[in-house]
Amino acid sequence: MDPVTQLRTRIGTRALLLTTAAVPLTGWAVHATALHRRLAATKRDPLTGLLRRDAYTHRARRLLARHGDTTTVVMVDADKFKAINDQLGHAAGDTVLAAFGTRLTTWAGPAAAVGRLGGDEFALVLELPADRCVQRLEQLVRMLHTPVVLDDGRVVDVAASVGAATPAAVGSRDLSLLQRAADAALYDGKHTGRAVLATAAHATVPSLNGRRAGRLGTAVWGKAA
Ligand code: GH3
Ligand code: MG
Repeated sequence: MDPVTQLRTRIGTRALLLTTAAVPLTGWAVHATALHRRLAATKRDPLTGLLRRDAYTHRARRLLARHGDTTTVVMVDADKFKAINDQLGHAAGDTVLAAFGTRLTTWAGPAAAVGRLGGDEFALVLELPADRCVQRLEQLVRMLHTPVVLDDGRVVDVAASVGAATPAAVGSRDLSLLQRAADAALYDGKHTGRAVLATAAHATVPSLNGRRAGRLGTAVWGKAA
């Protein structure tokens, strides 16, 4: 074989080897990407794009362990949401929930854990310095009381109740305890249009089906007088 033919044969063999290796590698990369996307999708609630309960809990616990005393746990529940479903239809209710998801993510920022725990109930864990807590909770209440515009142009008046708990106030970094306290605070201020910051007492109030049985005297902030 002349030298030119020899060189061509060598290059051809190498190219064939590379192509043979590249095809399965490309196939594997596509498969891995699809798998990753599917896994990520299972962590998120398809309606709101927020984390589902398990994924939220995992992320929230990590944030609490890493940042501890500068974190705040916030619970949110839409007010009179059943009436939106009943009067405007389930699709309108879905649009409101999706809008709440976007607002919560915008408010909390990319580092936060933001989850939909079910129905119209949401939970967040974020870094929030104590000196900015009141102002930021007021901002959240305002955002959640901003009307939602549906695709057909109809405007829906919305409202939500907000409760928050900090490790400093509750005396614990335990996520379940902080959520319980924040939930109790939320129900202390239910339908008032004000965020309520939990005290240690909120973590000990007995609950009915996870809901608070009574009201405590607390500090409140928000939109309504
Ligand atoms: P409250 O002011 O006391 O919070 O009462 P509420 O009317 O907001 O009702 P509640 O929080 O007790 O119940 C939430 C309702 O949300 C019950 C259910 O019909 C509705 N819901 C739950 N999941 C979905 C959903 O994915 N889409 C829609 N459109 N509605 C939902
Ligand atoms: Mg509700």
